[in-house]
Amino acid sequence: MPASPDRSAQTRGALERLDQVVETALERGRQLTHGGREIDAHQAHCERLAYLATEVAACAALADYADEAGENDPHAGEEAAIFTAMVASRARALLAAYPDELGASSKLLDATVDHPGMRDFIRAGLADRRIEALGRDIVDRRGTPDSYLAGDEERLTRETVRSFARSEVAPIAQQIHLNDDLVPESIIAKMAELGFFGLAIPEAYGGQGMGNVAMILTTEELSAASLAAAGSLITRPEILTKALLAGGTEAQKRAWLPRIASGELMVAISVTEPDTGSDVASVKLRAERGALGAAPGYFLSGNKAWCTFAGRANIFAMLARTDPDPGKGAKGLSLFIVPKDTFPGHEFVMRQKVGGLDGGTIQGKADRTPGYRGMHSFTMQIERYFVPEENLVGGEGRGFYLQMSGFAAGRLQTGGRATGLAQAALEAAAGYAGERKQFGQPIGRYSLTQNKLGRMAVEIAAARQLTYRAARALDQDEKRSLEPAMAKLFACDVAVRTTQEAQLVHGGWGFAEEFPICRYVLDALVLPIFEGVKPILELKVIARSLLSAQ
Ligand SMILES: Cc1cc2nc3c(=O)[nH]c(=O)nc-3n(C[C@H](O)[C@H](O)[C@H](O)COP(=O)(O)OP(=O)(O)OC[C@H]3O[C@@H](n4cnc5c(N)ncnc54)[C@H](O)[C@@H]3O)c2cc1C
Repeated sequence: MPASPDRSAQTRGALERLDQVVETALERGRQLTHGGREIDAHQAHCERLAYLATEVAACAALADYADEAGENDPHAGEEAAIFTAMVASRARALLAAYPDELGASSKLLDATVDHPGMRDFIRAGLADRRIEALGRDIVDRRGTPDSYLAGDEERLTRETVRSFARSEVAPIAQQIHLNDDLVPESIIAKMAELGFFGLAIPEAYGGQGMGNVAMILTTEELSAASLAAAGSLITRPEILTKALLAGGTEAQKRAWLPRIASGELMVAISVTEPDTGSDVASVKLRAERGALGAAPGYFLSGNKAWCTFAGRANIFAMLARTDPDPGKGAKGLSLFIVPKDTFPGHEFVMRQKVGGLDGGTIQGKADRTPGYRGMHSFTMQIERYFVPEENLVGGEGRGFYLQMSGFAAGRLQTGGRATGLAQAALEAAAGYAGERKQFGQPIGRYSLTQNKLGRMAVEIAAARQLTYRAARALDQDEKRSLEPAMAKLFACDVAVRTTQEAQLVHGGWGFAEEFPICRYVLDALVLPIFEGVKPILELKVIARSLLSAQ
């Protein structure tokens, strides 16, 4: 698959036409939803718009990368062309099904998806022989070539993390999953030693200050070895770090960030409640002002759900209601750093004593889950748990905003988690397809297997480049929320699809618990759920952002 200037120019041409489709569809969407104010009256259509815009953004990220990488990534140009053809063919089907809602005039159709050049591009890009050629190469290599990284520092980061993940995490990942164990302290200690918890924390606060691309590369490699017992360990510090950088006082940054960066403090994020999930503005857990002895602070009371790593964590970033009036919604919420002891296992009771005084209790019990094991996710009852005043981040009423800025970082990181997991599934499938023989030859020789592997690789490449692009966007402007949301949305779907296709390549053995592919499938299922369940991400983050933009 040599680099081809023609192919690159054709991909660019198709992309320009797709951009035109998206621009027109968004303009029409703004009319329908009155500038994004009435998204709920057109939810299914807004989901469609969000997805189309996301896929076209992924085409652009992959095409730019292919041009930059040139010969350094022998698959990239082909993957960009095939993926753009896939998206263009889906766009054409959408325009045929929803012409009014998408503003599909005959002039637009003629200039874009029905243009002869575009028709040829789609037909050529979806040709089975091209996708299968990619798949054959993947079977021969037992995986894809590494994506090209221009910077030495980035390449070194990937190598260092990969070596750690393959030698230290991968050998124990399956046992942790099967036994539903807690991630071993030895892994946490080594990750701390290698500086993984402080990658995106500025050097002034004890971190590496390497930015979001290094963080994503690290996440990808760790998640390929184990989503739950390694890749996800750095999500929580990322979320709290971004919230502290966005709204913490200088004293708070100095107090907490160096200890997070060094791995001394493990973080858990506690937003979700038993009755409150997506509607974060309705969080009920109360924080009442008071004092414990001479110490001013807040007493926290209420219930929380799905708090991952709550047992082992040393601190929670906990969203609570400081204004008792529920009518205040998001404006009544505040973010607290809540210290606690660490507990192994699936249950804990934390009884706090502050200077001999009763500082309240937190009881937690982990909910059993089929995958994403290693950190355990807890339902908790919190009774008059005291938090000193100085642990309120950013002042009363700013919690929702700070939590959301933290979640943008979390979503970016999850784009990396999903990409790493999908890559692991692809490599497992490629390895298996090269060895497993049926009807007298390796199943990787069958063109359908090659076709499936080729499609997986194309989607993973798009997810990866969309995520890297979001990382760079966040490096430039930490307030960006659209790009990380798109990366999370797309990469998580790719991880779900890829793991399931890779499981099928394994046949019945893909359903055997001892094969890692079985774990990959189960782990991937959680990705579209947290940090904004998929429909919420599409409607309330991506569609809102696109449709309210002028
Ligand atoms: C394994 C795991 C780990 C987690 N870890 C954490 C953690 O560490 N910290 C934390 O705070 N939370 C965590 N969560 C919680 C997670 O963030 C929530 O599950 C998620 O935000 C969705 O909330 P919910 O489950 O209450 O679903 P709901 O909000 O009840 O949504 C359910 C479904 O309803 C539909 N829906 C809801 N609202 C709308 C709407 N306005 N329009 C259209 N459709 C709608 C959607 O289809 C959605 O998928 C975790 C969850 C899991 C499963």
